[in-house]
Amino acid sequence: MKSEVLRLIRNAKDGIMPVDICRELNISRAALNQVLRQLEAEGYDIDEVEGKGLMMYSYPEIISSAEIMSRMETKWCGKQVYYRKETGSTNEDAIELAEEGKEHGTVVVTELQTSGRGRLGRSWESPKGECIAMSLILRPNVSPDKASMITLVMALAVADVCAKLTDMDVKIKWPNDVVVNKKKVCGILTQMSSKPGKIDHVVVGVGINVNVNNFPPEIADTATSLLIETGNRHGRADIIVAILDYFEYYYDIFESTEDVSCLVSLYDGYLANKDAEVRVLDPKGEYTGTAQGINDFGELIVQKEDGSFTRVSSGEVSVRGLYGYV
Ligand code: ADP
Repeated sequence: MKSEVLRLIRNAKDGIMPVDICRELNISRAALNQVLRQLEAEGYDIDEVEGKGLMMYSYPEIISSAEIMSRMETKWCGKQVYYRKETGSTNEDAIELAEEGKEHGTVVVTELQTSGRGRLGRSWESPKGECIAMSLILRPNVSPDKASMITLVMALAVADVCAKLTDMDVKIKWPNDVVVNKKKVCGILTQMSSKPGKIDHVVVGVGINVNVNNFPPEIADTATSLLIETGNRHGRADIIVAILDYFEYYYDIFESTEDVSCLVSLYDGYLANKDAEVRVLDPKGEYTGTAQGINDFGELIVQKEDGSFTRVSSGEVSVRGLYGYV
């Protein structure tokens, strides 16, 4: 209800009468007043102007569920948002919510994630102060072997949003990292729960370094943030809303074709090290080759030094540039 009140006031650029909000949402004036008091306490500057009604003059830089839900214009993505002030891992929370039956498109966000995970059991740091840590619950109508492509779909959405909101030269380090100036601004971790032949749910976690100024020493050389790269602070809610919007668009294409065939050229446009030498850290043996681009299934095509082509799938493998992390 709070998000609906917020949506009506936010969208009414010329003001909206309280009586109209009450009628539209079927709530009492007392209930509306209570919501308005809560919003004021959270930092929203909403005033009643004679002849115009309620108007919003400014809103706080917060990522509450009401703030995000009131801004979503999507069909299914981000319609339900759960906010946690602090949590171990939004992926763990989302998995729990998925097991309780929460619907496709449900999102968990947190202010502070204390034990985030990367791929292959690595840790994901969310330095205190304005990162995005969020996870999205999906119930895909595709077979379990297709789920890993969802990571690429999310990487594409994040890269698009970063490129649109800033003028940074954004790249994707296959499969799951969004990088700027050869440093990582975003990591993505996809986890699936399935029965033979059928996905129950997929959780896609996204960590983005937004307004971070300092990183812990272990990652200082390989991590960066939107603030560091652009010199500007960015609204986390703006980014979250835009990512969920772009993701919905790309995901629906993925689900209809059950592959990334329609997204290959967009993804390759962002691919770091395209047509350049990479080192493939395959547990069965490392090798170098030239990254050609992805195929319809999101695998990285690498031409080895002997001229042969190989398809790298994302499960066990990391790829590095020849001279560093990217
Ligand atoms: P990789 O990119 O090496 O294949 P992952 O995708 O699993 O690995 O990401 C985990 C790695 O990301 C960690 O080992 C760490 O080096 C790095 N990392 C952790 N937190 C951050 C962060 N906030 N920003 C950038 N990089 C990070």
